[in-house]
Amino acid sequence: MAIRTAGLTDVGCVRKHNEDSYLAEPGLGLFVVADGLGGHAAGEVASRIVVERMAQFVEETQEKDRTWPLEYDTRLGFDGNRLKAALLLADQAITDDIQRNPERETMGSTVVACLLHESKVTLAHVGDSRAYLLNPDGIQQLTRDHSWVAEQVANGILTPSEARTHPFRNVITQALGSGGDLEVEVQEFELGELDRLLLCSDGLSGMVSDSQIWDIVAQAPDLQAAVEALITTARENGGEDNITAVLIESGREEA
Ligand code: CA
Repeated sequence: MAIRTAGLTDVGCVRKHNEDSYLAEPGLGLFVVADGLGGHAAGEVASRIVVERMAQFVEETQEKDRTWPLEYDTRLGFDGNRLKAALLLADQAITDDIQRNPERETMGSTVVACLLHESKVTLAHVGDSRAYLLNPDGIQQLTRDHSWVAEQVANGILTPSEARTHPFRNVITQALGSGGDLEVEVQEFELGELDRLLLCSDGLSGMVSDSQIWDIVAQAPDLQAAVEALITTARENGGEDNITAVLIESGREEA
């Protein structure tokens, strides 16, 4: 089954550096968006460490007969454990880098990542980078932001529209490299023939509404045109942050 993908990142209209990193590697079935934190170039380092460490681990674990580096979670399948371990190893890699380079003490990264084999999706995230499912029926946010405003919405204190403009909208409640215990959420599901996955940083989801994202992707002639149009629209809407989008589809015949 063919996997098709397109990814793009852009510094946006306000920031001087692009601290987002992404990976779209159909050969490994691995797709990652990481949004670095920490400024002064450290955020760029953190998000790059995440992408590189995850790719390295997924590549090393293509064969199953390997001693597992971390506790194996029996509630998850092999790919669920792989993705979770990749995230935890990326977290450790940032912490290790900070020990060698104390000037990067404040760096960290969010991440949203998926493994895709045939139509089987394994999805995991930490922070407010998001995954969406898009198909002719509409758009659905698959990930629950690990952010202060998302907690307020879940508790009925803020409405979703208040959350979008709240001054604390960028406050995340967990990130890779923060030194604390991580609560990695992993989902496993099947991708339908007309489904597309979107992985993105908050520079897209904070600037472009869900319905606008759906319209843009539905109208674009192909995935590359779709990610270009998403970035263009995020910039037109203000481009206040770095913008990254990775689109993935599986199982359709070549046109
Ligand atoms: Ca961001």
